Amino acid sequence: MKKRLMIVGAGGVGNVVVKKSARMDDLYAEIMLASRTKSKCDAIAQGSGPVPVVTAEVNADDVPALVALITGFKPDLLINVALPYQDLTIMEACLQTGVHYVDTANYEPKDKAEFEYSWQWDFDDRFKAAHLTAILGSGFDPGVTNVFTAYAQKHYFDEIHYLDIVDCNAGDHGKSFATNFNPEINIREITQRGRYWEEGAWKSTDPLAIKKQVDYPNIGERPSYLLYHEELESLVKHFPTIRRARFWMTFSEQYINHLKVLESVGMTSIEPILYEGIAIQPLQFLKAVLPEPSSLGENYTGETSIGVQLRGIKDGKERTLYIYNNCKHQSAYQDTKAQGVSYTTGVPAAIGGRLLAQGIWKRSGVWNMEQFDPDPFMALLPELGLPWEIVVDGALSFDEEDMIHA
Ligand code: NDP
Repeated sequence: MKKRLMIVGAGGVGNVVVKKSARMDDLYAEIMLASRTKSKCDAIAQGSGPVPVVTAEVNADDVPALVALITGFKPDLLINVALPYQDLTIMEACLQTGVHYVDTANYEPKDKAEFEYSWQWDFDDRFKAAHLTAILGSGFDPGVTNVFTAYAQKHYFDEIHYLDIVDCNAGDHGKSFATNFNPEINIREITQRGRYWEEGAWKSTDPLAIKKQVDYPNIGERPSYLLYHEELESLVKHFPTIRRARFWMTFSEQYINHLKVLESVGMTSIEPILYEGIAIQPLQFLKAVLPEPSSLGENYTGETSIGVQLRGIKDGKERTLYIYNNCKHQSAYQDTKAQGVSYTTGVPAAIGGRLLAQGIWKRSGVWNMEQFDPDPFMALLPELGLPWEIVVDGALSFDEEDMIHA
């Protein structure tokens, strides 16, 4: 029997999840797209199909409002591509209504620039008792990077020892400063202290203090900065042989300079200030004046390259592996009218939803992506627009001695 899908969040990523899922007419009977601003849902629904897409307005911070909407539409599963602030209320509403759950980013409290899985892992017992599945982090990173690691472990390694996730956006959107996903979440992520795992402990660095040249396929060398990224937390937990785990992301000099100025004048702060008697968060105000990530697609050139570089042991011998996807912004735009960063997040979210709806990735409880069989997900990636490449025993950008002395 065909399934009913609800998607919450009508931003850059939501657009891609709706477009891709609405083409799955073998699987879905009807889709509802619900978000804070209904006109954005209607605009996305208009260009989507053949599965019918209905729309609704909802405040996803409000559990009773979500429960009422879900009870009326009766979805089998819900894909949450609103903001990380809404993860817990949406999970709660899914539990109250008996609906499976998928998201792409872990929970963050609004008043603290901090993210970790504990809040969502705490729902595990309740999801198990309700025989419901929650799949956490089904975007690209987290998401595909977790699946790449699980695939490498399954087919290529006895033990993974070193893991470096490398994320490059070599695109040009023609704006002097814009973020590729929600500006508030993006700036909170990159202005916090860097963190990485080494020999059984977390080590921390000043924000963007560590930089390395990384050679990206089809792009070349780019300066890449060490950041803390949420998938490191679940990957070191689920692959305990990992001795060092790090995450690297490219930023242009122009981007870093803008960010430094904005930071130095207080525009990236989340501490409320009083402006003409009204309390506002400078970062939320900044978001309001920056371009919407979903508006960047049309003139975006260049490509992204995101992958995992691994080092470890197979049959007693040392092994290296690099597994990655490159995605052209223009191909993403032609397929879904989205830029590459929304696309590389929305396609994996649609795949996570598909595997859950088909019952292939259905398992009671709260799970990270690397805890499922990676093979069906890896098979769907190229079919849905994200082909991947794998290089076994080639040179990597990092060697095992490449420790950081921060
Ligand atoms: P956008 O800001 O473009 O979209 C977010 C959407 O959520 C907007 O439509 C917004 O409504 C809606 N929304 C916000 N608050 C509420 C609320 N209280 N109730 C209902 N709807 C709400 O962000 P993106 O599309 O770029 O990102 C979506 C998610 O994807 C984020 O959680 C982000 O962290 C995650 N992400 C994950 C990545 C990965 O690789 N794993 C990479 C990139 C993003 P409105 O339009 O009214 O503002």
